[in-house]
Amino acid sequence: MKTRTFINTVLVCTILLQITSCNRNNKIISNSSYPYNSKADSIINLMTIEEKIGQLNLPSSGDITTGQAQSSDIAKKIEEGKVGGLFNIKSVEKIREVQRIAVEKSRLKIPLLFGMDVIHGYQTTFPIPLGLSCSWDMEMIEKTARMAAIEASADGLNWTFSPMVDISKDPRWGRVSEGSGEDPYLGSEIAKAMVKGYQGDDLKANNTLMACVKHFALYGASEAGRDYNTVDMSKIRMYNEYLPPYKAAIDAGVGTVMAAFNEIDGVPSTGNKWLLTDLLRDDWKFNGFVVTDYTGINEMVEHGMGDLQTVSALALNAGTDMDMVGEGFLTTIQKSIDEGKISIEQLNAAVKRILIAKYELGLFDDPYKYCDQNRAKTEIYTKENRDFARKVAAESMVLLKNNNNILPLKKSGTIALIGPLADTPENMAGTWSVATKQSESISFLDGIKTVVGDKASILYARGSHLDYDKEFEKIATMHGKALKKESRTNEELKAEALKIAAKADVIVAALGESAEMSGECSSRTNIDIPQVQKDLLNALLKTGKPVVLVLFTGRPLVLVEENNSVPAILNAWFSGSEAGLAISDVLFGTVNPSGKITATFPRSVGQIPIYYSYKNTGRPLDNTEGKFVKFLSNYIDERNEPLFPFGYGLSYTSFKYDNIKLSSEKLSENQSITASVDVTNTGNYDGKEIVQLYIRDLVGSVTRPVKELKGFQKIELKKGETKKVTFTITIEDLKFYNSNLSFEAEPGDFEVFIGTNSSENLKSTFKLL
Ligand code: BGC
Repeated sequence: MKTRTFINTVLVCTILLQITSCNRNNKIISNSSYPYNSKADSIINLMTIEEKIGQLNLPSSGDITTGQAQSSDIAKKIEEGKVGGLFNIKSVEKIREVQRIAVEKSRLKIPLLFGMDVIHGYQTTFPIPLGLSCSWDMEMIEKTARMAAIEASADGLNWTFSPMVDISKDPRWGRVSEGSGEDPYLGSEIAKAMVKGYQGDDLKANNTLMACVKHFALYGASEAGRDYNTVDMSKIRMYNEYLPPYKAAIDAGVGTVMAAFNEIDGVPSTGNKWLLTDLLRDDWKFNGFVVTDYTGINEMVEHGMGDLQTVSALALNAGTDMDMVGEGFLTTIQKSIDEGKISIEQLNAAVKRILIAKYELGLFDDPYKYCDQNRAKTEIYTKENRDFARKVAAESMVLLKNNNNILPLKKSGTIALIGPLADTPENMAGTWSVATKQSESISFLDGIKTVVGDKASILYARGSHLDYDKEFEKIATMHGKALKKESRTNEELKAEALKIAAKADVIVAALGESAEMSGECSSRTNIDIPQVQKDLLNALLKTGKPVVLVLFTGRPLVLVEENNSVPAILNAWFSGSEAGLAISDVLFGTVNPSGKITATFPRSVGQIPIYYSYKNTGRPLDNTEGKFVKFLSNYIDERNEPLFPFGYGLSYTSFKYDNIKLSSEKLSENQSITASVDVTNTGNYDGKEIVQLYIRDLVGSVTRPVKELKGFQKIELKKGETKKVTFTITIEDLKFYNSNLSFEAEPGDFEVFIGTNSSENLKSTFKLL
């Protein structure tokens, strides 16, 4: 109340000053009818330069404890007006306490933003984003973000650093786990769904979060898949393949953008004016604010862009508004203004964007609007949310192989569950699950016992350590994601496993990566299952019993050996707080798997980058028999095609595609044609199928990919049922960025493919007039 009165007084007092400052700022925030423009200007007119700089500062909360926030260093800064927002703090109690310092003790009483990496759920945790994307279910994905926003806002937060929409074609990069795979079309659909889910229809509601699309831009193309590495890319590739999901998030109204760590055209994103102003604000009309990634400004010193003052000025002048953690802005902007390196207008513009975000969230009306103890008690990690997470997890799993219909398993006899990933709740949620109570996640072992009940006997053995290398295992189990303590040797563990395997009718091997083997700064040069686990798997196979591999991974792995030797492989990713139950739901057929991979699984690391929408080259290898042909584009020691192509995933039932038809062989500019296909469930189970539409532009003014995803539908078919699936194709689907970077379609011949994945499909053709 006190705050509101104060700000209202401010509004009246500064009405005259407003006029001049508004004019200055309208140049930067172009939409002068923007509702909070003048309100923000009024506050800006009251602010000292120091207070303005303070609004641009986003420290991490450190270890603020409830009841002691007042005496922390952060509290002192907040009181002095040197903080615009805080992140890594959660709980209504703490946030209320810290917000109170801002709105009661600082001179201008401006409320703070409270941000966090709410990436795939909050306490109720959904599959890692790469897994989630394999559901191809936009409604469900939106609902996961909605639910995450409800839980996080009930815990005091108002801002999330999500969605992460970086396209990546490189599974060595650990952060492929955080994105939606390799495809810009699917990635854009998911970006929109996530923004809608977080922000809802009304940012002013108390159960929505402001979203932050990241990492702008091209972070997923870091050279050699090494995190934070250099990116170098042609504009034509950038526009056609990497930028669309960021743009989709902007078009969906995302409130904030996070600049990436990497450089673009030789200039780090955080200081890249072309990226943050020319493209983002001028071309794409983004009106929100840009935050750096963690110490993104300071890191420009190491990039070789100058000292802290220089890089801070570079960042602000480029269009960065908020400085995460590094305090380059806090410590150098005043000096840069004194020296004429930054204009007061540029500073005001940044402050204004941040203030407007606070208005949009309704924080000036009620700075405690997210601090409702009752919500915190009743809306987080509820039974309903957890049931939904279980469903989502099952929808995200991908059946990679199922020889002789070994799956689903029967709930009978004796089942041996073996492997280092079977009994580790801490590893189920996967990377970036900061609000998950890791030890409460349902492990595979607990899940299978619950789902099977007394119908079958479950035997368990760990079987091996995660890796032969103890040092590697330490790196791979950081951040509280340890496996249970185990002092026995690998040989002893294997011996125990073989003993229980001998008693079992079927063996389920829970193998793969630990959660920390993917995610930030978890790049790998070898993307196999660790050798110790492969050795265990081979020993299990030697028993002659049926073996099912349940795979845990945060990236596409090289699975050639496993694909040759194991009859069934179910990819469970890291599927969240209910993982163990969801895996068991799929394993025993309560849920028929329908996920399809959104990133290509290579046969070898040497094929990377590998993706379905490649270009033909002048010397394409047309046969896919795997035979080497000299002077064509291929390898002497490996085939060209991947192990599992984009869009691939099996079901317990089977689907037949027939009868592809186009409504016309010609398409003119203002018309559309429909492409249809009959899909029949030919197997023994009801099931879901993700029907995919790809288009190839045969001749262009620039070379075009061999196919591009342009549509998909997830349908449900009862066994024996046939459905006609219809897609509408318009000229919009045929447009691409040409060498002038203009987005146009070019008349000529096109091929249409409809099918079950990017490699297996029916084909037809049409002409764009
Ligand atoms: C990551 C971001 C994240 C930020 C804040 C950085 O290291 O790159 O994705 O949002 O930390 O936690």
